[in-house]
Amino acid sequence: MSPVDLQPQDKILITGARGLVGSALAAVLTSAGYTNLLLVGSNDVDLRDEQRTNLLFQSEHPDVVFHLAARVYGLMGNLANKSNVFIDNVRINTNVIESCRRSNVRKVIAMGSAAIYGDSVPLPMRESDVWTGPPHASERPYAHAKRTMLAQLETYREHDGLSFAYCISTNLYGPNDKFDEHWGHVIPSLISKFHSANASGKPVSVWGTGAPTRDLLYSYDVAIALRLIAERGQGVINLATGESHTIRQIVELIADVSDYTGSIAWDGSKPDGQQQRSYDVTILNALGFTPRWSLKEGLRETYRWYDANAATARR
Ligand code: GDP
Repeated sequence: MSPVDLQPQDKILITGARGLVGSALAAVLTSAGYTNLLLVGSNDVDLRDEQRTNLLFQSEHPDVVFHLAARVYGLMGNLANKSNVFIDNVRINTNVIESCRRSNVRKVIAMGSAAIYGDSVPLPMRESDVWTGPPHASERPYAHAKRTMLAQLETYREHDGLSFAYCISTNLYGPNDKFDEHWGHVIPSLISKFHSANASGKPVSVWGTGAPTRDLLYSYDVAIALRLIAERGQGVINLATGESHTIRQIVELIADVSDYTGSIAWDGSKPDGQQQRSYDVTILNALGFTPRWSLKEGLRETYRWYDANAATARR
């Protein structure tokens, strides 16, 4: 086995630490014995600000950085906020990765997005196609910002020897997500809708045709995978289960775990977004990763968490 890149005594900075992935990652790292964690959320440091970001790194000197922070929306949110999505993400990523270089961080594990894949690459999508063709129009500004981060990391690796892993993340879900029905991602949006419909008795409105496919990875599986990637992964790595489901199948599972028996209205005026998404996960599996949560188990846990935390959940 190759030497492990992450050591128990390392000072580990997590950006986006209060979010969906950051909160799960902090729990997984702590229970694995990595206890020197520096957790930074958007309320602690505005990473869009170059000076504040520099100051954070100059005062803390982290050894390893998980860069998870991003300005994130779902399909409609990305369509409605194109310019802010682009510039906020470019600023956050540019500042963080530049600070990593200047303060000699030993390794960066950066969160990319499957949105960066070209719309016409062959399925399942492979890491070698990461620069092939323009991304799907529905999320192009977000995708370009994430591609820019990869370009920056590749440049700094070549010129400065910065070690990195760049995770091409599939659709993620779990506790501590943003449960925003209008601008958020499909799972938290639908969980919030089914939860309200159980109380109101009104039908649930679901977007599009139900035909698109998505690969959904539960946040605690993401955290387990990120730990393995930090310990032994290098370069571009697909972060997904390798299994895709149609939106219609996903909706049926959410109805099941929420004990919903009312009606479902499909709103064809809302977009489908990209039609097909599936990923080759050979590289991730070779690091020792297989998902522990089935889609149904993950959705059940997420629904339970939301049911217990609906009043205070982020939106
Ligand atoms: P994407 O996977 O990057 O396209 O973004 P989302 O996480 O927003 O998922 C969008 C997919 O879920 C599209 O196929 C939508 O038509 C479908 N969908 C169905 N109902 C909803 C909903 O209530 N909210 C969202 N965001 N998407 C929905």
